[in-house]
Amino acid sequence: MAHDWIGCMKKMFDLKTKRRTPLAAATATFASMTRVLQPAYTRRLRPDQEDKASCAPGAAGTGALVMAWHGITDTGRVRPLNEDSFACQDFMDRSLFVVADGMGGHDAGEIASRIAVETICADVSGLANLGHDPKGLVERVVLHANAEVRKEGTSRGSNMGTTLTLALIDGTTAHIANVGDSRVYWIENGSITQITEDHSLVAKLVSTGKMTKAEARHNPKSNLLYRTIGTDEAIKVDIFTRDLSKGGSLLLCTDGLWGELSDEEIHRICSTEKGSRTICAKLVNSANEKGGRDNITAVVVTVG
Ligand code: CA
Repeated sequence: MAHDWIGCMKKMFDLKTKRRTPLAAATATFASMTRVLQPAYTRRLRPDQEDKASCAPGAAGTGALVMAWHGITDTGRVRPLNEDSFACQDFMDRSLFVVADGMGGHDAGEIASRIAVETICADVSGLANLGHDPKGLVERVVLHANAEVRKEGTSRGSNMGTTLTLALIDGTTAHIANVGDSRVYWIENGSITQITEDHSLVAKLVSTGKMTKAEARHNPKSNLLYRTIGTDEAIKVDIFTRDLSKGGSLLLCTDGLWGELSDEEIHRICSTEKGSRTICAKLVNSANEKGGRDNITAVVVTVG
């Protein structure tokens, strides 16, 4: 039944296949190529943002919120290269977190994800302020990243592409953008919420009741994407807004993490481990212990 739908959907969409090594090919070739971009960083919000923080659920009367973040990308146990890229940047009045999962063969995926992340960082760092339309701004920087990846792909004669998810935090509000199947989660008060929606074939089948979430996780076609950065000149960018509150954690990750760990496992680690650095390391290590079949990237922002 599911295969019929997959054939139908493949005709409807120009699907992009991400390279994925079958489980049978997994060997003990784990070379620890973990790259930690920055040490854990703690930022106390400015006084004018404390007022906004006091309005957030769970933050009333507690004074300033303190955010700490940590990011790790790891090649995993199977792939020879790491095609994921990520960045964590603090601009005093805003913080930016970006995760991208490149595709395209050879080194093209690595280049595509890096160009996307670097374009976003350069655009946001060049802003004097976020202005009155942060949602529009977030969409514009993603569209610019799409144009830059397409330009590079054309010059190389490559069909390179990448997923892209970002969170731009202004005060206690996260403006989130997504294209592809990297994800943003919010974990708090014993719950985990997937904020972004995957632009994958299997996610469409789940949303229409043609497939269960459990079936989707293990479906061999789970790497077929119908929307990516670098594929089309005109793309739709999903935009979300999330108010951050004390005690919660924001997680940005590629499918190398969420493909190995269930939402329940991610929630358990984020709830039981203390500190963004420890949580991040535990998430990546656990994904490797489950197989590490893909590149693994996690960025954790804790709000305390
Ligand atoms: Ca991946």
